[in-house]
Amino acid sequence: MGDEEINGDETPESFDDLSFSFQPSSLILSESRPTWAEINLDNLVHNFREMKEVVDPDVAILVAVKADAYGHGAPDCARALERAGASWFGVALPEEGVALRESGIRRPILCLGGFWEGQEDMLIARGLTAAIFRPDLLELLDRAARRAGRIASYHLKVDTGMGRLGVPHRELGDFLDHTARFEKVRLEGVMSHFPSADEPEKDEFTNNQMDLLEEAVEMVRARGHNPTWIHQANSAAAHAYPRSHGNLIRIGGVAYGLWRDATSPDVEPLDWQPVMSLHTRIMFLKTVPPGTPLGYGGLFVTERESRVATLAIGYEDGLPGTLSNRGRVILHGRFAPIVGRVSMDLTLVDVTDVAGVEVGDEVIIIGRQGACHITAEDIAEMTGTISYEITCRISDRVPRVYIGGG
Ligand SMILES: *Cc1c(COP(=O)(O)O)cnc(C)c1O
Repeated sequence: MGDEEINGDETPESFDDLSFSFQPSSLILSESRPTWAEINLDNLVHNFREMKEVVDPDVAILVAVKADAYGHGAPDCARALERAGASWFGVALPEEGVALRESGIRRPILCLGGFWEGQEDMLIARGLTAAIFRPDLLELLDRAARRAGRIASYHLKVDTGMGRLGVPHRELGDFLDHTARFEKVRLEGVMSHFPSADEPEKDEFTNNQMDLLEEAVEMVRARGHNPTWIHQANSAAAHAYPRSHGNLIRIGGVAYGLWRDATSPDVEPLDWQPVMSLHTRIMFLKTVPPGTPLGYGGLFVTERESRVATLAIGYEDGLPGTLSNRGRVILHGRFAPIVGRVSMDLTLVDVTDVAGVEVGDEVIIIGRQGACHITAEDIAEMTGTISYEITCRISDRVPRVYIGGG
C-alpha cells in the first residue's frame, strides 16, 4: 500500500470500499408451516439422462442453474447433476457461481451474463469462466489474470440473432483485432444463443444463426485461437436442431421438466418429467350462505351455500395473483377453483363439490394427485408468461424438500 493516509470519515470513492452484506434470505424456515415445494432430484437426473442419450457421445452438457436453478435450488440440483455427469454449470451472475463453489461444486462454471467491473479477481480466485461480449471486460480479465499470475479462460459470446448480449457478428473482426494484445486470457469457447429455436416457423432464421456461428468460429480460428468449446443450443435447439449441438449444449428448462412452452411443438418430446411440485394445506374451513363476498374487494360472491377453504399460500410465496378468481388447485384427487383475490399469504378455494374435506388436508398447486394434474406450464399459460417464470418466483419463504438424487 502507498503512504496515503486513509481518512475514515471520507466517502468511499468506489463500491470496492463499501462492504456489502448480502443475505438472500434471513428467514429461518420452520417446518411447521405446511407450504413446501418438493424437488424430485431423481426426475432431474432422469431428464438429464434423457437428453444425454440423444446427443452424440462427444457432446458435453452444461446445465443452467442460474436463478437458483430456476427456483429448484441450485446447490442440491447441481450436486445431483454433477454426480450424474454434467460437464458444466451455467449461472447468470458470478455471485451465483461463488455460491456453487461454496456448496462444493467442482465442475467448470460459465457466467453466462459475463461479470461486472470489480468481480474479475473473484472470477479467477473461484475458478469461474466468464462469457465475454465487451473488449473492456476482457481487458479487466487480462489484468486480473496478470495480477494472479494465471491465464484466464473465457467464452466469446457472438450475437447471431438474439439481439441481447454478444459481439454483433459483423463487428467480430474488429473485436478480435482489438483484443489480440491481451496475453493472459485464452479464448476457450465460442458461443451464441437462440431466441426462437422452439418456433418451427422461424426455422430459416434459426438456421441462419447456425451459419453465422460457423463463420464466427472460422474467423476466430483464422486468427490463431483454438477454442475447445463451440456451443449455442439451449433446450429448444438441443431438442429440435442436432446441427446446433457443437460439442456442448446448454439446457435449463427440459432438465427441470419444463418443456411444453420451451420446445418445438413439431418435434416429439423426450420423456421429460416435472421436477418441482408445490404443496400446501387447508388452514381454515367454513360453510357460508349464498351471497357471501370472499376476500379483498369481495371479488367473488357465493351463489350457493358454499364450503370455502383457506390455503396457507399467497402471492408472496409465488402463487400468481393473476390466478385470482380463475385458477384451480387439486385436493382429494379433484380440482377445486380458486375464488376471490389471491392475497399475500392466503388463498381461498371453493371445495363445495369435494367430499370429506378437513382442515389440514393437503392441496396441490403444481403437481399430480389421482387423475388430476396441474403443470407449471398450465399456470404460465393462464397468467401470460412461461413456466420458467412460475418456478423462479416460488419464493425463499417456501422450503424446498428434496427427494432422491442418489
Ligand atoms: C438460461 C440459458 C440457457 C438455457 O435455456 P433453456 O431454455 O432453459 O434451456 C442457455 N443459454 C443461455 C445463454 C442462457 O442464459
